[in-house]
Amino acid sequence: MWFRDDLRVSDNPALKAAADSGQPIVAVFVFETNENHTPYGGAQRWWLHHSLSALSNDLEALGAKLVLRRGDALTQMMSLIEETGAGTVVWNRRYSRFGIETDTEVKATLGEKGISALSFGGRLMHEPTQLRSGTGGAYRVYTPFWKMFSASVTPRAPLPKPLMVPSPETLPKSDRLEDWSLLPKTPDWSGGLVDNWTPGTDGAIIRLENFIASGLGTYDKERDFPAVDGTSGLSPHLAFGEISPFQIWARVDQVADELPTDDVTTFRKELVWREFAYHLLVNFTELKTHNYNAQFDRFPWDENEAHLCAWQNGQTGYPIVDAGMRQLYETGWMHNRVRMIVGSFLVKHLLLDWRHGEAWFWDTLVDADAASNTASWQWVAGSGADASPYFRIFNPITQGEKFDADGAYVKKWVPELAKVPTKFIHKPWEAPRKILDFADVVLGETYPHPIVDHKQARERALDAYQTMRGLAA
Ligand code: FAD
Repeated sequence: MWFRDDLRVSDNPALKAAADSGQPIVAVFVFETNENHTPYGGAQRWWLHHSLSALSNDLEALGAKLVLRRGDALTQMMSLIEETGAGTVVWNRRYSRFGIETDTEVKATLGEKGISALSFGGRLMHEPTQLRSGTGGAYRVYTPFWKMFSASVTPRAPLPKPLMVPSPETLPKSDRLEDWSLLPKTPDWSGGLVDNWTPGTDGAIIRLENFIASGLGTYDKERDFPAVDGTSGLSPHLAFGEISPFQIWARVDQVADELPTDDVTTFRKELVWREFAYHLLVNFTELKTHNYNAQFDRFPWDENEAHLCAWQNGQTGYPIVDAGMRQLYETGWMHNRVRMIVGSFLVKHLLLDWRHGEAWFWDTLVDADAASNTASWQWVAGSGADASPYFRIFNPITQGEKFDADGAYVKKWVPELAKVPTKFIHKPWEAPRKILDFADVVLGETYPHPIVDHKQARERALDAYQTMRGLAA
C-alpha cells in the first residue's frame, strides 16, 4: 500500500482493498526526491513530519508498521518489490502533473514485471475528467460546473477503517523519520505552527467537529471576516489527505436539516471549488506554470525585488495586506478573503507576476495544494479560466474597512498599529500627526509608508492591461 497524499486509515479505498484481499500488507510512504520536483515547501515539511508520525501510530493500532523510503518513486517501488516479493501495489490516485506522470511510469514498469498496480479514487468526490460541458470539453466557469456536479455527482458514503492491516513476517528496511530533517532547527520557526495546528486525522476530526458545532451554521454570514473564526480550517488536513472530502460531506449531511440552508450550501460550494480546481489542473496540465489565458504571456510584469520582499514580509504599508502576510508567515495559513486582497495587491498594485505569489504561498502555506493554489492565483491575476477580470482592482483600504471594520484583524497581526483609532486603521498615513503620536506610530520608522500610492498603482495596472491587450490584438 503506497501512501502519498492520503495519510489516513479511514475512508481510504486503496487501504481497504488491500485489507479486504486478506494478504499481508506493507504500508509505505516514499519521500519523492527528484531534481525536477519540489514536493513540499518549508511549512508543509513540518506538517508532513507530524502527519507521518500520526499515520504511523494509526497503522500500528491496526497491526501494521509504516515503512519510510526516500528517493525516486520508481526505484524505491522496484526495490521494495524485490525485498518483499509483493505481487500487487495499491494506491489512491493523485492529480498533479508530476503525480500523474510518475504513477503512469510506475504502473507501466510494474505491468512489464507482471506485478499488478491498482489505483483508486479517494482524494476527490469526482474524477476530474468525468464532467463535460455541453460542448463536450472541460468546464472553464465554476457556476455551470457546480450545477453539473450537484446534478450528477452523489458523493459516496465514507468507507470504514479496516479492522486490521496485517503485516508480513519480515518487513523491508525503513528510514527513520527524524533522519529526514523535515523540522526546522536553526532557527526553529515552527512555534506558530505548533500553536495553531494538530496534524493527523485526530486533529482533522476535532477541527471538523468544532466547525460543525459552531461554524457551519453561520458560515455564509461570517466566512468573509478574517477576524472571526468563521471557516473550517480543514484545508491542510485535506491537502495531506488526513480526512477525505467524502467524510466532510457526509458529516455535513447529518446536520444539514438542523441548520440554515444558505450556510450549508455555501460550504458545500467551497468544497466543490476544490474539485473545480482539480478539474482545471487535470484538463490544463500547464496550469502551474502557464497562463490559462495566453494573452497574459504578453503582460508587462515589473521586476522589483524590494517590492516582492516588502510584500513577503508584510511591510507594504497597507495594513490589511501586511496583516495577511504576517498571519501566513506565523501560522502557515491565511484567511481566504485576505488571500484575495494580498494576491490582487501583488499582481495589480505591484505589477509582479502571479508566479512569484504562487511560489511564496507554496513555501509558506500548510495547505499548499497543487490545484487550489495555482487555480486561485490565476483567478486573482485575471489570467485564469474562471477569473476575476484584471481591470477589477481590489482597493486594500476599502476592503479592509468592509471586512475588518473595527480593525481587529489588523491590530492582531500588525501590533505596532494597535493603538491607531478605527477611523485610520486601514489608512494610517491619513491620520493627523497628533493621533499618530498618541498611537506611538512614526511612519517610515515603526511602520512603513505605503510602498506604492493606491491611485497611481491602479492607473499603472490599468495601463499595463491595455498594453497587453494592444500587443495581443
Ligand atoms: P473553508 O472556508 O472552511 O472551506 C472548506 C474547504 O473548501 C477548504 O478547506 C478548501 O479545501 C475548500 N476551498 C475553500 N475555498 C476554496 C477555493 N477558493 N478554492 C479551492 N478550494 C477551496 N486553498 C488550498 O487548499 N490550498 C492552497 O494552496 C490555496 N491557495 C490559495 C491561493 C490564493 C491566492 C487564494 C485566493 C486562495 C487559495 N486557496 C487555497 C483557497 C482558500 O483560500 C482556502 O482553501 C481556504 O482559505 C482554506 O481555509 P478553510 O479550510 O478554513 O476553508
